[in-house]
This record gives sequence, structure tokens and C-alpha cells, in this order.
Amino acid sequence: MTDVPDIATPVRTQAIMNQYGINTKKSLGQNFLTDINILKNIVAAGDVQPTDNVIEIGPGIGALTEQLARQAKQVVAFEIDERLIPVLDHTMSPYDNVKIVNQDILNVNLAEEIQANFDDPDAPLKLVANLPYYITTPILMQVLQSGIAFDDIVVMMQKEVADRLSAETGTKDYGALTLAVNYRMQAHLAFNVSRTAFVPNPNVDSAIVTLTPREPLKVQPKDEKKLFQLFKIGFAMRRKTLWNNLITAFGKDDTMKEKLTNALESADISPKIRAEKLTLEDFIRLHNALFDAGVYNV
Ligand code: SAM
Repeated sequence: MTDVPDIATPVRTQAIMNQYGINTKKSLGQNFLTDINILKNIVAAGDVQPTDNVIEIGPGIGALTEQLARQAKQVVAFEIDERLIPVLDHTMSPYDNVKIVNQDILNVNLAEEIQANFDDPDAPLKLVANLPYYITTPILMQVLQSGIAFDDIVVMMQKEVADRLSAETGTKDYGALTLAVNYRMQAHLAFNVSRTAFVPNPNVDSAIVTLTPREPLKVQPKDEKKLFQLFKIGFAMRRKTLWNNLITAFGKDDTMKEKLTNALESADISPKIRAEKLTLEDFIRLHNALFDAGVYNV
């Protein structure tokens, strides 16, 4: 299989696109990687092994998919653009361990797709992708909220979103995404990627981030789904106090205000604070106090 030439050169990428009459769609975030060294470094950052199942989001014409196929046990790749399906059927034909699923990643149930598409759904699972940038945050939130235990996530994204993943409490980059990531994983900025590595060049800088499972948390939330909602509620209006965001989300009537006041008191959190000052542990404590105060029972 290794004598198959790499897709990822500017000349070959253009030739494949010409052959199939494909013009890249900006609306789908189509910036194809044409630098083989970067692709190899992405696969290496995920330490992809012959025992690993790999999910890819947005295979494009298959430049990263092919590098993954050469290292992994099996690759399942979700591509929304049906024009690319015949291209991928052709470019992936040398590999018998690749499955392309023509679906919008935001509309799939990932847990069901894993069961349906991998021959051995219990093998170690990794996510490796050059993400479509217009939906980086919703994709990451979906992946993290799914609760699926990925052994490694390696994702390319715009630099400004990458900065949010490892932001410190109290900084402008710190927000719901930072908390959602930290809840499950440890983020590490692996390397930056120049705009010139893509066809066409994107108008933002890019970075590769690795996410690895974190140490177990000291306190567990009583309802994971509601905790993720609380992350979003806390930052719904960044400049407002936590209290303002809580009453906007849960209600302004006297009974609710009393429940919220009790919960904040028992979690030892000031209502005047802004969410950006709260650590992940503070958020979990607050969530558990809201749960106990019956705030969610409406
Ligand atoms: N993996 C290729 C590479 O590295 O050259 C292409 C990456 S390109 C940045 C993003 C890809 O995601 C495109 O192929 C695009 O069609 C696909 N895409 C965009 N929105 C999607 C969605 N909602 N679900 C699945 N794929 C999507």
C-alpha cells in the first residue's frame, strides 16, 4: 500500500479537483492540506497505532484520511459534501480499512455511528481531523458532550479557538468551551500551521491541538448534561454578573430567586461575580447546589 503516491501535494490535489470538476466551497470550510509533513505530524501527534479505530471529520479529497488509513486499524470519516463522495471512492480505493459516511457531523449520533461502522467498536478510539472552521466550536461541544471516551483527540482549528481551549480562568479567552474541554480532557497546543499549507489559503492562522483524557475530577456533577448547559448559561452575556445570567436562564420570580440565592450561598459563590472568575470546580459545586436547591425541577 505504501507505493500509492500521497494525495497531499499541491499538484496532485489540483489534478484530482480538476478531474472531478470540484471547486472548493468556502461555505463548507474547504481548505485542503497539501503539505505531507504536516499531515504526517498530525498523525504522529495522535500516536495512531494499528490497533486504533479513528474517526475523521471532513475528509475532503482524502489527504489526511490516507495517512490515517496507513497507520490505523480502521478509519470512519464523515463528509457532508456529496460531490466529494465519488472522489473519495476513488482516492481511498487502495485502502480496505476506510469507510466514508456522507453525513453532516452535527446531525449524527456519534455513539450509534461507532457501533454501526467499526468492525470492532471496542478498540481504542481516536478522533483526528482538520476541522471545518465555521463549525469548530459546535463540533467540539458535540464531541465532548457525547461522553464518548476518546483515547486521543487531535484537531486542527483556527488559532483563536485553539487559544480558548487552554485559556486560564479570568482571561478573555476563557469560556464555556474551555470548561467543556477541561471537564474531560487536557488540552495541549501541539504546533501552529501556516496558511500556505492549504489550497486555497484560509484567511486565519491555524493550530493543531491535542486533547488527552484528564485525571479524574475530585467532585462529580449530579447531571452532566445540565452542567454543560450551566457552562453556556454562565457565559450567555459575558459582561453581566453570574446572577444576571442565572435569573435570565432560570426565571426572575421570587421562588426561583430564593432557590438561586440558597444555591449560591451553599456553594460559597458570590452572585456579583462574573462567570469568567469561576474555575471548573466552582462550576461543578454551583451545579450540584442548584440541583439540590431544586432549580432544575421546573
Ligand atoms: N481533511 C481534509 C484536509 O485536511 O485536506 C479537508 C479538511 S477541510 C478544512 C474540512 C472538510 O469538512 C471539508 O471537506 C468539508 O466539506 C467538510 N465539512 C464541512 N462541514 C461539514 C459537516 N457539517 N459535516 C461533515 N463534514 C463537513
